[in-house]
Amino acid sequence: MDILKTKSDMQEWSIRKKKQGKTIGFVPTMGFLHQGHVSLMDIGRPLCDELVLSIFVNPTQFGAGEDLDTYPSDIDNDLHLAENAGVTAVFLPNKDHIYPAGFQTEVKLMSLPNYLCGKFRPVHFAGVATVVTKLFNIVMPDVAVFGQKDYQQLQIIHQLTEDLDFRIQIIGGKIIREADGLAMSSRNAYLTEHQRQSALSLYQSIQKAEKLISESNMDSKELSQRITDFIHSFDETQVEYIQFCHPQTLEETSDLSGPVLMALAVKVGTTRLIDNAVFNPHIS
Ligand code: AMP
Repeated sequence: MDILKTKSDMQEWSIRKKKQGKTIGFVPTMGFLHQGHVSLMDIGRPLCDELVLSIFVNPTQFGAGEDLDTYPSDIDNDLHLAENAGVTAVFLPNKDHIYPAGFQTEVKLMSLPNYLCGKFRPVHFAGVATVVTKLFNIVMPDVAVFGQKDYQQLQIIHQLTEDLDFRIQIIGGKIIREADGLAMSSRNAYLTEHQRQSALSLYQSIQKAEKLISESNMDSKELSQRITDFIHSFDETQVEYIQFCHPQTLEETSDLSGPVLMALAVKVGTTRLIDNAVFNPHIS
């Protein structure tokens, strides 16, 4: 497994592989890897000759007061998991390689970031779109794999790939959960044992909403209120949003009979957690 620390080393590696006729798969991450990340590598591995993993805690996608400075890291374990998953190169740039002095370009989508997390994290998706655009230009993959855990991010990546004419196939990997349903996340490491129990309220609320939708004709407003009350019955929880939306446009919808995305963000203590599910995906 090659380890590449500079932009030019990574680009030259990819150019060399392409000259040899090799295809490249790509999994971008912020590190502190778990089985959710591994599942994306498992998806990418059989699709391409080479598999690149990037680990970069991207400062521009963190707002003021967020956890940029405390984001967890364990590079040795990350490299171990990557090697076992068949990664052939790890791109480990530092901040100055990605954002050298004088950097001034931003990639910003016009509509998709205006919903869900984007409302509460105003700089987040421009930071994501900018870094992913740069990583695509540096790694030059044929296929890139992202998790449905970050559903809005995945929609944004699909859209920017189309809008900016990247010849990259984008694949969404399903959410990997702990045995008790908690969606795996590097940020789960922040939770105390007690908060970890409260964090179960996210997935339990998704299951509850799905049941209520199938068994009643509750409208989305009433359902959101019921789910908010349910989550607030757990200690140290504060709902940021619970929303029912169109799975592609992310526009809020009151019609819960067709395909609908339920997305939520909840603070448990000071840790912000997200989860989502698409209900009725096959009914149109
Ligand atoms: P992160 O390191 O949190 O930026 O995530 C890197 C990639 O892993 C993103 O595409 C995430 O959506 C994906 N990911 C994170 N957690 C999970 C999970 N529990 N299941 C599947 N994919 C995930």
